[in-house]
Amino acid sequence: MQSNLSRRIAALEPSATLAMASKAKELKAAGRKVISLSLGEPDFNTPKHICDAAAKAMQEGKTRYTVASGIPELKSAVCKFYNDRHGLDYTPANITVSNGAKHCLHNAFTVLIDEGEEVVIPAPYWVSYAELVKLAGGVPVIVETEQANDFKLTPEQLRAVCTPKTKCLLLCSPSNPTGSMYSGEELGALADVVLEKDLWVLADEIYENLVYGGNKFVSFPTVRPNLMERTILVNGVSKTYAMTGWRVGWTMAPADIAKKMGNLQSQETSNPCSISQYAAVAALEGSQDCVEEMRREFEKRLEYVTKRIESIDGISCPKMSGAFYAFVNISEQLGRTYDGKMIETDTDWCLELLEKKGVATVMGSAFGAPGYARLSFANSMEELETAFDLIEEFLAEK
Ligand code: PMP
Ligand code: GLU
Repeated sequence: MQSNLSRRIAALEPSATLAMASKAKELKAAGRKVISLSLGEPDFNTPKHICDAAAKAMQEGKTRYTVASGIPELKSAVCKFYNDRHGLDYTPANITVSNGAKHCLHNAFTVLIDEGEEVVIPAPYWVSYAELVKLAGGVPVIVETEQANDFKLTPEQLRAVCTPKTKCLLLCSPSNPTGSMYSGEELGALADVVLEKDLWVLADEIYENLVYGGNKFVSFPTVRPNLMERTILVNGVSKTYAMTGWRVGWTMAPADIAKKMGNLQSQETSNPCSISQYAAVAALEGSQDCVEEMRREFEKRLEYVTKRIESIDGISCPKMSGAFYAFVNISEQLGRTYDGKMIETDTDWCLELLEKKGVATVMGSAFGAPGYARLSFANSMEELETAFDLIEEFLAEK
């Protein structure tokens, strides 16, 4: 019998990144050797000084409910960290701490978007954006970008899709899934359209510390005056400090919006985990050497992955400047047979690669880009070497 569920939930797609990761885990549990390049999660352990701060918080009894929108110590640490780094002047009243950046995005869309309002999302986009917009009653307006332009939205494209219902632009830089990053100049040109069309911007900058090749990260509200008034910045500890399981993220937003997000959270989840919040304070206030060590390791892997992709005929990827994903164009591989079996779509390709070679990736169509596959290089060098050997073997199969 069909359950009588709400329209919003009936239409909700599960997260493809998490689905591919659990498929890989299932196969591993069944005894198969599997290398998972599916989930975007640092393979490092959380640095010791951060874990020690959490243990101390527990021993000191910081184990109770906190203010719903986050502990004052963490709000202050967030302001200091970002203001020092980017010359912004956020105060604790602008900060809402939530259960990871994904929860921040959910809060932000819920607070910002009314039924039928449009959110412009450049594709390829991270799997959760469009679903979270729909969950909030909004309409995702997907704008396809070009690999030749490193998958960056142009001001002309943004202007062309704006309607009286356009409320917000979503920007993710450095990008999951493409690894590309906007320059200050490119952001400035988009900001001019944002100001002209009176839009909000949700700027997901969760990969800002994972930038490579001497590229310089630029935070969106710094590129024109008065952008802080129309921007909700999203960030957190998951990627920078290898803290995916701790579930701490934050938004930096105009104070009235921050207050509403705190109110929403007070009804939905209460506060983020108290212990994790103290750990996040230690992450932001402690030495940043651990971040640089992990970044360097990712950079080596990026160089390796780029070389391997370039050396294989019939696949390619855009220039990667940040995050830890290679977004590989596999369109030439579609419509051919592998081991006698016809592979028509990127989903077929990813499932077949997993089935045949035990390498888990995520299909581009989950990111609004059929014909691609996303490979996370948040894996050890040994695993990456083996995975690329297996991918080459797979591609050579007739
Ligand atoms: N934004 C982007 C672009 C991401 O890749 C992720 C990865 N999970 C998130 C937000 C959410 O991060 P978290 O909820 O772990 O803080
Ligand atoms: N952001 C990561 C990814 O894209 C983690 C998975 C998720 O949160 O969906 O793989």
